[in-house]
Amino acid sequence: MVAGRVMVVGGTHGNERNAPWLLEAWRRHPALLRSSGLALELVLGNPAAHAAGVRYLDQDLNRSFVPDLLAAPGPGNRELERARELLARHGPGGSAPCLVALDLHSTTAAMGNSLVVYGRRPADLALAAGIQQRLGLPIYLHEQDRAQTGYLVERWPCGLVVEVGPVPQGVIQAPICLQSQLALEAALEVLAEARSGTLRQPDRLLVHRHLGSLDLPRHGDGSPAAVVHPQRQGRDWQPIAAGDPLFLTAEGATIPFHPREDQEIGPVWAVFINEAAYGEKGIALSLTRRESWPVEPGWGRALADLARNLQSPG
Ligand SMILES: [Zn+2]
Repeated sequence: MVAGRVMVVGGTHGNERNAPWLLEAWRRHPALLRSSGLALELVLGNPAAHAAGVRYLDQDLNRSFVPDLLAAPGPGNRELERARELLARHGPGGSAPCLVALDLHSTTAAMGNSLVVYGRRPADLALAAGIQQRLGLPIYLHEQDRAQTGYLVERWPCGLVVEVGPVPQGVIQAPICLQSQLALEAALEVLAEARSGTLRQPDRLLVHRHLGSLDLPRHGDGSPAAVVHPQRQGRDWQPIAAGDPLFLTAEGATIPFHPREDQEIGPVWAVFINEAAYGEKGIALSLTRRESWPVEPGWGRALADLARNLQSPG
C-alpha cells in the first residue's frame, strides 16, 4: 500500500457549518488540533454547496460515491464531478493519497456525539471500537440498505462518519464544534497507536445495527399525514416498543409504533429521528438493533496494517 495521509472532511453537506468552521480554524492555527503526529489533509467536501448554503446542488454528495456512477462515461452532475475530483486527488490511488477518511457531519436529530460505520470492514470496526473505548460514543452500524448507498468514506480503505447533533442546518454552535473535535482527536489517537503497534483493543463493541427506516404516514398525494410524536421527538438512541406513540396527526390522533411483520422480533432503538435532510428521502426515523459484539483481533491487525502507511507531517 502507498503511503498516505488522513483526510478530514467537513461540509460534505453544504448546510452543515460546524465542521467547515473547524477546518478553517485548524488551517489558520494547526496547533488547535491534536493530530497525534499524523499528517492530515483538511478538505471542504462540497465547496459549491457550502458557498450556496445548501445541502447539495444536484444530488447528495454523500450518496454519490457509487462505483457504477463514478465509472460512467461522460460528465456527470456537479456532485458526481466533485466525487470524482476528491477520489482523483485524495483517493488511495490519487495524486495526494489519503488512506483514511474521517467525515464530520452534523444533524438536526438529537444524536449527541456519535459515529456512523458503513458495513463491517475490519479496520473501520477497530477504529470505531477504539473511539468508543475512549469516549463511549454510540455507533450506528449502517448496512444492507439498498435505498441508501454511495457514502464517501466507503471509497477509502478505512473511514467513518462523526455525526453530532442536534443543531439546526446552517447554524454553528460551540458545543457541536467541541464534540466534533473530541471525536476527531480520539480517532487520530487510535490511528496513531495502530501505526506504532501500541493499540490495545477493548473486549467488546456496542453497536446499533441498522434494520430499516420508517417514513411519515402520507396522504394519497404524498403530503405528510402526521408528524413525529412529541413523546418520540429528541429520543434518539432510546428503545421503542410496540404500541409506543410514534406519530401525531393534525387532528391530534396518536399513531403508535407497530413493528413490520418482516422485521426481526425483539426491542428496537430509534436513531436520526426527524432529521431535516431525510424528509426528502422518505425517512422520519431509522430503527436499529442494539448489539454487543466481541472485538476480534483481526480488526486491530487490519487497522495496524493500514496505519503503518500513514505519514507524519512535513
Ligand atoms: Zn451530513
